[in-house]
Amino acid sequence: MNIKNYINGEFVNPIKGNYLDNYNPSIGKIYGQIPNSTKEDVVLALEAAEKAFSKWSTTTLDERSKIFSKIADLILEKLDFLAAAESKDNGKPISLAKAVDIPRAASNFQFFANAITQFSSEAHESVGLNAINFTLRQPLGVVGCISPWNLPLYLFTWKIAPAIAAGNCVIAKPSEVTPMTAYLLGEICTEAGLPKGVLNIVHGLGTSTGQAIVAHPKIKAISFTGGTKTGAHIASIAAPMFKKLSLELGGKNPNIIFADCDYDKMLETTVRSSFTNQGQICLCGSRIFVEETIYEKFKKEFIKKVSELKVGNPSEKNTNIGALVSHQHLEKVKSYIDIAEKEGGKILFGGDSVTVKNCENGYYLQPTIIEVQNNKCKLNQEEIFGPVVTMMSFKNDKEALALANESKYGLSATLWTNNLNRTMQFAKQLQTGIVWVNTWMLRDLRTPFGGAKDSGVGREGGFEALRFFTEPKNICIKY
Ligand code: NAD
Repeated sequence: MNIKNYINGEFVNPIKGNYLDNYNPSIGKIYGQIPNSTKEDVVLALEAAEKAFSKWSTTTLDERSKIFSKIADLILEKLDFLAAAESKDNGKPISLAKAVDIPRAASNFQFFANAITQFSSEAHESVGLNAINFTLRQPLGVVGCISPWNLPLYLFTWKIAPAIAAGNCVIAKPSEVTPMTAYLLGEICTEAGLPKGVLNIVHGLGTSTGQAIVAHPKIKAISFTGGTKTGAHIASIAAPMFKKLSLELGGKNPNIIFADCDYDKMLETTVRSSFTNQGQICLCGSRIFVEETIYEKFKKEFIKKVSELKVGNPSEKNTNIGALVSHQHLEKVKSYIDIAEKEGGKILFGGDSVTVKNCENGYYLQPTIIEVQNNKCKLNQEEIFGPVVTMMSFKNDKEALALANESKYGLSATLWTNNLNRTMQFAKQLQTGIVWVNTWMLRDLRTPFGGAKDSGVGREGGFEALRFFTEPKNICIKY
């Protein structure tokens, strides 16, 4: 299936006629083409967005909210179709796309359908000065949204929904590795009555299309989710133009397990937090630290549970682990497994590619558990972003905290304990944007989402996102 750009409410070919192959990772075959858009396509999208802005930015909140609810309903109506498309494009189990990715894309629109009607700004009476200050939060104009391949429609909509709800017009680029569901969303937006030019979707490589979005001086803000290196590059281009920047970047998240936890719940959740979506979630707990008194028991039982996961064809219902997103990514993940033993690590489970019947050329890898001796090793310091976790033991709270914080990343952390004092100490001292205690990836869309250190700048979610996509202006009236 060939994909087109969605500009001014129409599906159009890229101006220069350049295309990229689109792969189905579960069988390792090309199944379509996508535009490799150039600066000219971005300019076309910009013109459409600029034209739409004056009307959209004055559309009533009620009207915006109704369109968003309609988009959410249409996404849910097409749940099976979109989940199948996501699975084919990305390699993730269809069951996961159906249970998580697509419902969450609908929730992103429904959430901001409600949030925009509740968003407010501050007023400050300057007592004794006979003045009142209030804050106007106005949309920025045309903004750019760039998203990665791991949760394609989920993260694409997580950006564009607040941007549009706040009254902006958007130029968005999904990952060139997984463009399909963003393409399908164009049709849904038209059907829901989103006016032409409010959302424009341009496809293509990061280094050409993405770069053109980031570098265009008329695009006022960039909301980016992706790798830390890419984020730094984007910042180097956008910051001198004083663009607003929201950067959601990589992670190397600690999963800290104390002996006093609810063990069975922890074990079951740790299997999920390690390997959901083939370990390709920025929030996966890829460094597991276990208190030494339960280390051997956990190791044995974790290996057993992981060995029961079925690696297989993503379209089969009982598959737990599908294909990795691309051949290149599979090779990258394997290169870390290859250095494990050189770094003093021991592969406790997995480590090999898997050949899946009828999908022999797909990119499959066993879920892999590696015991490491030292938190400074590459396996513990670099983001692998695949079905690979490391584990090591710790003696006490102090050591666990030091190990968790010994990372350039600071996205999320998971803590397993029933000790309230310990919970509060860790909650305060973990250098991450999110701390989950006795759970993982429990998301409330009102909360600030994002990372510390090299995991990013800024927060998404709830009013944080609406604040990002608006410019606050202080009005001071003397009376
Ligand atoms: P990536 O950085 O390679 O690409 C992300 C997006 O940026 C893609 O659309 C890509 O085309 C585009 N891009 C690449 N180079 C660009 C450039 N020079 N200018 C503009 N755009 C450019 O990341 P990826 O491999 O697609 O995704 C995996 C990474 O995303 C991992 O590091 C993961 O941790 C991170 N991630 C972070 C979060 C979060 O919320 N913090 C969520 C999901 C994924």
